[in-house]
Amino acid sequence: MESTKIIKHVDRLGRFKLPTEWLNMYDIKPNSKVKLTRGMARIVVEPVEHKCIFCLSSENIHTFKDKFICNNCSKEIKELKK
Ligand SMILES: [Zn+2]
Repeated sequence: MESTKIIKHVDRLGRFKLPTEWLNMYDIKPNSKVKLTRGMARIVVEPVEHKCIFCLSSENIHTFKDKFICNNCSKEIKELKK
């Protein structure tokens, strides 16, 4: 697979924006976390997999009060309230 290269301007605070297309491609959402790895001549940015705070599942995840929760745990919590 051929890699895609772009040049970005780094602002005075050391920030730059990843292309929206790339964010979508790797399912990186606003306020999510990414892992940075420093190599000999490059910096690698990887999405951090979102996991449910209760069961650690990574399927059917959504956010509630800035925490990740899966649909199953969400349903269980709703059942507790009844
Ligand atoms: Zn869960």
